[in-house]
Amino acid sequence: RTVLRELTELQIKNPDISPLESLTDTDPNVFLKRYLKKIRDLGEGNFGKVILYVYDPANDGTGERVAVKSLKHEGCGHLHNGWMKEIDILRSLYHCNIVKYKGCCSELGGQVVQLIMEYLPLGSLRDYLPKHRLGVAHSLLFAQQICQGMEYLHSKRYIHRDLAARNVLVENKCLVKIGDFGLTKHIPEGDVYYRVREDGDSPVYWYAIECLKESKFSFSSDIWSFGVTLYEILTQCDHRQSPPAKFIQMMGNVRGQMTVMVLIKLLEKHNRLPCPRDCPPEVHLLMQQCWDFDPARRPSFTSLFESFEAIRK
Ligand code: ADP
Ligand code: MG
Repeated sequence: RTVLRELTELQIKNPDISPLESLTDTDPNVFLKRYLKKIRDLGEGNFGKVILYVYDPANDGTGERVAVKSLKHEGCGHLHNGWMKEIDILRSLYHCNIVKYKGCCSELGGQVVQLIMEYLPLGSLRDYLPKHRLGVAHSLLFAQQICQGMEYLHSKRYIHRDLAARNVLVENKCLVKIGDFGLTKHIPEGDVYYRVREDGDSPVYWYAIECLKESKFSFSSDIWSFGVTLYEILTQCDHRQSPPAKFIQMMGNVRGQMTVMVLIKLLEKHNRLPCPRDCPPEVHLLMQQCWDFDPARRPSFTSLFESFEAIRK
């Protein structure tokens, strides 16, 4: 009954916030703030902060561990709408290689909403890989799982726009899932790309050339970012070989506004990330295909999956 009362209050206070309305109307998975007990911080990116909690309504220590994501800068109106979209998108996805949505928790009549998702105990690939040396076959298994999650995302006509090792989570040594749908956009049927309007602190070293030049994001620009993610996996996310470290090395000492311009020049001259040490040439070839100047010539996630399958055998 309290849940129902809180929901009703929420809707009365916010008669015109439709994403939230749709969220609470149909969502049985409402978590109550008072039963969430904080364990520790899990990580943060540009916009979000993720914390590990135990949700224990029985208050007897039988609760489950959940990862709770909230906006870092609560109260910014334009961010709030994007945030509601991120929640809605994750809620609509169901795949074994995509982090599972569990529910929401809202405070202050819906002005603050937190996203509750399953907790992946091994953290992101960036936390995991430097501590666990994977052989090539194992690396390619992870790569294939990312392809499968992305193939599903594309089949739902979403582009991710922020595919990177920091946004891939590790469930156990045989299973990874894509997390962080903060920059995901829906592409209407028929359209092939999306142009960014908002400015912001973007992960430029993972971006395809056309994203840097014209803010043109597409299914093929996700493939480019996958190539960079594959590079990260094969370098075990060693920070000395990270994409920013390598590109900054190639670019020399440029800063601020100039960075993107110099990066574009570099990519136009066909400079790319190097072949990671111990990376088989056929895997390096796939990376290079992902980084083709022409988006139409890049492989699809389906064909990448098959290529990995053939190499693993
Ligand atoms: P942002 O949108 O701010 O980049 P992310 O969703 O990428 O936020 O989360 C930031 C970090 O928190 C991740 O890189 C990862 O280390 C950690 N994290 C996120 N979600 C989970 C989860 N479900 N389980 C465990 N760790 C997580
Ligand atoms: Mg992130």
